[in-house]
Amino acid sequence: GSAPEVHAFQAETRQVMRLMVHSLYSNKEIFLRELISNASDALDRLRFAGLQNPEWLQGDSDLRIEIEADTESGTLTVRDNGIGMTREEVLENIGTIAHSGTRRFLEQLEAGQKADRQQIGQFGVGFYSAFIVADSVTLLTRKAGTAPEQGVRWVSDGEGEFSIETADVPGRGTSVVLQLKEDEKEFLQHWNLKQLVQRYSDHVGFPIHLRRDPQPDGDKAGEDGEWEQVNTATALWALPRNELSDSDYQGFYKHLTHDVDDPLCWAHNTVEGAQSYTTLLYVPRKAPFDLALQRDERHGLRLYVNRVFIMDAAQHLLPHYLRFVRGVVDSQDLPLNVSRELLQENVLVDRIRAAVVRRSLDMIGKLNEAGGDEYAAFWKEFGTVLKEGVVEDPDNRERILPLLRFESTRDADPADMTDLPAYVERMTEGQDAIYFITAEHAQAAANSPHLEVFRKNGIEVLLMSDRVDEWMMSYLHEFDGKPFKSVAKGDIDLGKLSQSSPDADEGEPESGQLDEDLIQRIDACLGDRVSAVRASQRLTDSASCLVLGEGEMALHLQKMLQQAGQ
Ligand code: ADP
Ligand code: MG
Repeated sequence: GSAPEVHAFQAETRQVMRLMVHSLYSNKEIFLRELISNASDALDRLRFAGLQNPEWLQGDSDLRIEIEADTESGTLTVRDNGIGMTREEVLENIGTIAHSGTRRFLEQLEAGQKADRQQIGQFGVGFYSAFIVADSVTLLTRKAGTAPEQGVRWVSDGEGEFSIETADVPGRGTSVVLQLKEDEKEFLQHWNLKQLVQRYSDHVGFPIHLRRDPQPDGDKAGEDGEWEQVNTATALWALPRNELSDSDYQGFYKHLTHDVDDPLCWAHNTVEGAQSYTTLLYVPRKAPFDLALQRDERHGLRLYVNRVFIMDAAQHLLPHYLRFVRGVVDSQDLPLNVSRELLQENVLVDRIRAAVVRRSLDMIGKLNEAGGDEYAAFWKEFGTVLKEGVVEDPDNRERILPLLRFESTRDADPADMTDLPAYVERMTEGQDAIYFITAEHAQAAANSPHLEVFRKNGIEVLLMSDRVDEWMMSYLHEFDGKPFKSVAKGDIDLGKLSQSSPDADEGEPESGQLDEDLIQRIDACLGDRVSAVRASQRLTDSASCLVLGEGEMALHLQKMLQQAGQ
């Protein structure tokens, strides 16, 4: 090999490593899951590449992961015979932060915003988790299709530098050797490793072999210890539901998403017939910190064809408003060499996508029917994103609407949310519209003078203060045959609902002339700034309020656009 070259990590990489070690210490065993997941990715990629280059697999087609503990030297090795890396790829992938989400996450942490430090685990920082338990890490790798002397050795103590050199690597693939810290020696114990693999990686689609450490006084184990396959190594989604327990599903979710929490719910379905496919979908318990901005393409929805991993395909299989859904889709009918272009214009893909949407909404619907804290938790994390679906997916609007939650004037505490079916149920005799108000924040909505006459007449009004609400309501015209009506726009005619009409009738004759005079004077004062000044029955306590035309944009949005210089 060449002489070792020493490189400094990027400042960001150092920062991520420091954060990892400190924030994830209480979940330190995740390092094993991360290394196994990288090995499994590398095997997936080799299997896929092997379709084009069958010679890459020749002589070593038994794809697997090996884990070996050596108590003597205090090292733990995770090895795969997967795709491997060239020197350039090592420099590119190990030691630099490629994922833009990681960068944004760091910026938020620095800005002192409330990003949860544990969420660091959601990004492509998996490899660095090795430094939670290791003093130094050695990576030996050789890319499939290259010669043994083109191997690469990468070594780092995780402090600020790493060294890299070419080296002879006899077999294809990658070995990661951890020199464990003095007080992390528990990760050398056979039963501990076995248990961890079974808990988190049981359904990794490749066999994981664990080597028994040679027992000094043991009689069963041979000199070098025996290899033992410790995981089931079946694609979990390909098994029938009745053979799977909750903890199987939860463990697989963690393998898939790198989440430290259990999922909120999941749905597992197989369709057989003219087209056969399996979907296994999950809703996480926590939203990623930047959910509002973008979808997490990498940990979204994995597309398999006959259990061969093809690509992360959330972009093609999930609409934007369901970008929080995670899982696996396995199709029996798509060609193995399916490309992104093909995914874009394929009827099979369209049908699978429609099914993924339906299953996702059904899964959320079930959570909704179960009610209680779980749905409230879902709504808090993903409610605003789901609302986008009202606009983005009119075909499924009828499925989405009953899932929405709103604050309302019904309760003393508006945080007790209502859904639309319950609102309609409570509508008073003769009420023919669903009333709502949008405002900048909940307090402003609840205190609006527009609500006075509704309060007085006991008519419930939905209080909307999400950023997306005004936009959503401009697309939403009715629910269950009842039109939506903003209490701040256009004419409000409570008609026979109004309990105050007898008083108002009595008052009318005397105040008529006074109103006219007053109105003319106010109109003259305000001039062009308003389109009209009118007497109204919508107020009971306040003297006046601004009313918008039927098609006008809400005031707080107008203000926002003005501030943005539009
Ligand atoms: P992620 O897996 O989310 O991309 P990691 O930090 O775990 O992030 O790994 C970074 C990159 O290093 C991987 O994307 C992959 O390109 C490369 N890599 C890591 N481990 C292996 C391995 N065992 N074989 C091949 N490539 C690997
Ligand atoms: Mg990884």
